[in-house]
Amino acid sequence: MTSETFAIGVDIGGTNLRAARVAPSGEILQKEVTPGSRDPSRALALIEELIRKMNGTSAVAIGVGVPGRVNGWSGEVLSGGYLDLSGHDMKGNLARAFGRPVAIENDCGMALVAEARLGAAQGLSDVVMMTIGTGIGGAVMQSRQLVHGKQCAGQLGHLVVSVDGQPCRCGQRGCVETESSGSSLRRHLAEAGYDQNTMFEDVLRLATSGDRNALAVMHSWAAPLRAAIRTLSAAFDPEVVILGGGLGDAAARAQAFLPTLHSWYDVEVRIAVLGDDAGVIGSGLAAFDLASGQRGPSSEVGKRLLMVNGVPASGKSSLARAISVETGWPLLGLDTIKTPFLEVLENVDRSGNRLLGKASYKAIFSIIEESPEGATFVVDAWFGFQPLALLEEHINMARITRVAELWCRAPPEVLAGRYADRSSRRVAGHPGLSYVPELVELAKRAGPFRLGPVLDIDTTAPQDIDAVASWARRALAPAKR
Ligand SMILES: [Zn+2]
Repeated sequence: MTSETFAIGVDIGGTNLRAARVAPSGEILQKEVTPGSRDPSRALALIEELIRKMNGTSAVAIGVGVPGRVNGWSGEVLSGGYLDLSGHDMKGNLARAFGRPVAIENDCGMALVAEARLGAAQGLSDVVMMTIGTGIGGAVMQSRQLVHGKQCAGQLGHLVVSVDGQPCRCGQRGCVETESSGSSLRRHLAEAGYDQNTMFEDVLRLATSGDRNALAVMHSWAAPLRAAIRTLSAAFDPEVVILGGGLGDAAARAQAFLPTLHSWYDVEVRIAVLGDDAGVIGSGLAAFDLASGQRGPSSEVGKRLLMVNGVPASGKSSLARAISVETGWPLLGLDTIKTPFLEVLENVDRSGNRLLGKASYKAIFSIIEESPEGATFVVDAWFGFQPLALLEEHINMARITRVAELWCRAPPEVLAGRYADRSSRRVAGHPGLSYVPELVELAKRAGPFRLGPVLDIDTTAPQDIDAVASWARRALAPAKR
């Protein structure tokens, strides 16, 4: 990626639509803000127009933050409030119109991506964010990935903080959105007898001077939010909770009027720092992540290889089969490819066997080369029978971007026993019992290739396939930033 590339970040707000060219660093290179529309077709046309203005040959991808529930896996909009884009294939339409990958997330999720990358939670990986505005939005990040659950986890405005509270549009009662949002601040003020022009700053001043009525409003507004924050801390154990949105700062200041409470769930609360730009920055960064395949294994650019390596009779084939079954990753075995040739070709000697081995080795990587991006393969082979340089050549040819290795070993006498046992069942062309002393010598000096993480496995001990598969999934997971 050259330094000129950028992603187009779009933020669909209640009143305004924002779009920006965002650099890989998160820097805004160019920005455009325009009044939005409540009409979905009109809003979608305006969004396309904005993207067209930001577009250029160096645009790598498009990210859009949408208010409402969004299926974080598919980008489908499930519901909305002020503007409801559900039922419109925004992702498909934008991808077709601009020929770029499109990332769609809930708007608070996009803001959290930005705050975690370069804002209030810079460098942190486990963060919860709530945006306090007319309603309350939310997003959860674990290990630097937004949490989606089945489809749209992170609807933090609908954490119940009062089972007999106000009815909420979601169907529950006493959601934190009905108690601690901007709209509920209005309600608390009206109930306390303040006129409708009263601002948060006015009540803040009165509460600071000890006015009991103002203090009561602060308490009614702030306490449910504190309960929600503690509940989130209990559920996710984040490093920090960020409060953003137009009233994020006010909501944090209101917390100071609550009586001190120490619990297991004390957690640092920070104010978002990127303001109105958080949405476009996060959308741009999420678009970059999508383009570089960092949003998940299924969209990873390049392919992944789990080498199950070890000398002959090291027990690698049974392990490779078990891992393939456990993970669902297809298994390619060198012998699986080579054996049919040994069966049909006559008089294959040891050097012929080696040539077939070399061709079968290449065949494995030709199959991977033809496979779709993001695919993962388990490859069962004694990789040491060819030089490292050839393996690297094959890996490049197949566009494999991640490698992990299971190194299978057993004591030389065990290998010798296993090899002798099965030599009677081998097809012609395989070296026979005379190979045993050579194998013993080979086993003494053989070792893994270490092109990626290596897990050392003693195949004479019982195997915990679950644990090995989990290790492999982690070892081959997309890199964290
Ligand atoms: Zn609700």
